[in-house]
Amino acid sequence: MIQKRREIRTYAVISRGAVTDSMGHRTQKTITAICPFCQAEVRIFVWSLHGSGKLCKCGALFQSDCQASKLVEAPPSSTAAL
Ligand SMILES: [Zn+2]
Repeated sequence: MIQKRREIRTYAVISRGAVTDSMGHRTQKTITAICPFCQAEVRIFVWSLHGSGKLCKCGALFQSDCQASKLVEAPPSSTAAL
């Protein structure tokens, strides 16, 4: 059986912006972050960070405080000492 554990990494925010509607009003603040697991650029609504989080296409979950977590396969403990 493959063990899984949740790995937490810090992601980098490379820019901040906002979504504008057709009238030019800024409606929702966004950030653009680099996924620490797959290096994809991910645009995230700020409100989603404070809610359930934002899922990357690789399965990582972005949350507030610049932390992203992902379930990864834990290496067998018998090989950890090699
Ligand atoms: Zn990712």
